[in-house]
Amino acid sequence: MERPVRVRFAPSPTGPLHIGGVRTALYNYLFARRHGGTMILRIEDTDSQRFVPGAEEYILESLKWCGIEIDEGVGVGGPHAPYRQSERRDIYLKYAKQLVESGWAYYAFDTAEELDALRKEYEARGETFAYNYSIREKLPTSLSLSKEEVAARIARGDQWVIRFKMPENEIVEMDDLIRGHVEVNTSTLDDKVLYKSADALPTYHLANIVDDRLMEVSHVIRGEEWLPLHYLLYRAFGWTDLQPRFAHLPLLLKPTGGGKLSKRDGDKMGFPVFPLFWKSPTGETARGYREDGYFPEAFINMLALLGWNPGTEQEIFSMQELIDNFSLERVSKSGARFQPDKAKWFNAQYMHHKSDAELAALYQPILREVSDELAGRAAGIMKERATFITDLWDLTSFFFVAPTQYDEKQAKKYWKGDNPAMLRELREVLAGIDDFSLENTERIVHGWIEQKGYSLGQVMNTLRLALVGAGKGPGMYDVTSFIGKEETLRRIDNLLRNLKPGE
Ligand code: GLU
Repeated sequence: MERPVRVRFAPSPTGPLHIGGVRTALYNYLFARRHGGTMILRIEDTDSQRFVPGAEEYILESLKWCGIEIDEGVGVGGPHAPYRQSERRDIYLKYAKQLVESGWAYYAFDTAEELDALRKEYEARGETFAYNYSIREKLPTSLSLSKEEVAARIARGDQWVIRFKMPENEIVEMDDLIRGHVEVNTSTLDDKVLYKSADALPTYHLANIVDDRLMEVSHVIRGEEWLPLHYLLYRAFGWTDLQPRFAHLPLLLKPTGGGKLSKRDGDKMGFPVFPLFWKSPTGETARGYREDGYFPEAFINMLALLGWNPGTEQEIFSMQELIDNFSLERVSKSGARFQPDKAKWFNAQYMHHKSDAELAALYQPILREVSDELAGRAAGIMKERATFITDLWDLTSFFFVAPTQYDEKQAKKYWKGDNPAMLRELREVLAGIDDFSLENTERIVHGWIEQKGYSLGQVMNTLRLALVGAGKGPGMYDVTSFIGKEETLRRIDNLLRNLKPGE
């Protein structure tokens, strides 16, 4: 029988969420929505040494910004609450003990110092130390000590851990929805710690498997993991039939190819590797896509295509289109190279397709004094040249403020010869126009230019100097119709009055 689709995003709050983590969350979300399933958010915070205050809030806010909705979990609740592992600590010991009783795990009493000393001894002999079948019966463990001794040590408060008893020389066969069939010999693996008495907490492996089972997770879609141990844990618990399907995602690679994309790459090449700006408790900061001016839709679109392809040429996808098209079969096995320019390209595409009303809502807060209508019109005229909302001021400021200085190059080129006299004439033509709409102004001014035999380029560039103050901006009639007759004449007068023509 097909199980209901239940997936989870299970980050550890150890710092800001890397964009690779956002992609993992996104693929889980798309898969859940595609199959009418449930998206769970579980916070895996059992490693108290790596816990960073603020990281969980950062994760929640990032998912919200991205539009990745959580159906069940931290911040939402649900039938398997609590979803924060530190609040589930009572659950895990029972399962660790169950594995000891069934012979799949054992108590180990060695201290960190003893293990260190042992490791050094091995190194001195040129060998690497592995805590595994070769040594576990020689160390103070429940495999070497008597039952009474073990009980006595626990009773008197000695510290202990429970370790997984990794079988010797067995082949673990794993089937991954992305990687395919993988086999690993258990002799290459060590006896991982599952539970520590010191902080009365499970390690990641135990908590992860137990929670996936208790939360009835059907598919585990995540980054690189120690998979064989997880397969064996399901077997050890007798849960093989209920084991989720696994899908291990490809790495996000550096723009140069080799290796995992890191914050250092971003710092060096000038792009963020985190969704939101981050400030650590010790004051270190990292830039984020949101604060760098990216639209969440563009960011998500870009991320979705880093490791998944739709099998067509289509590049622009709304969240709904991603949901409709997503499948794990089209996730690639090999790493996906991050391309900072492509991220900008996606943002520009979204910028160009935004309506004036959408642009107004985003641009108006930057302009403050300007109405929504004007903000939207200005942004709409110039959006094709913008990548970020923050580019818009530079591209549209002349709609709102008259030039107070004139670009030297433009002035040198056009503010000379007959042009000042021509501009004076043009002023009179403009002063005589009542309907200052784009089309009407263009028709009349062009008629006048033709009749006079003037050069269109000379007239327009001189007018541009008056209205924009530089050799940039949209068509001149976009500007005249936007700023209106009075302001157009005022700017022409300003130039005539304030700038001495050159030779
Ligand atoms: N807490 C793990 C991590 O952040 C989750 C791995 C998993 O999804 O199973 O890497």
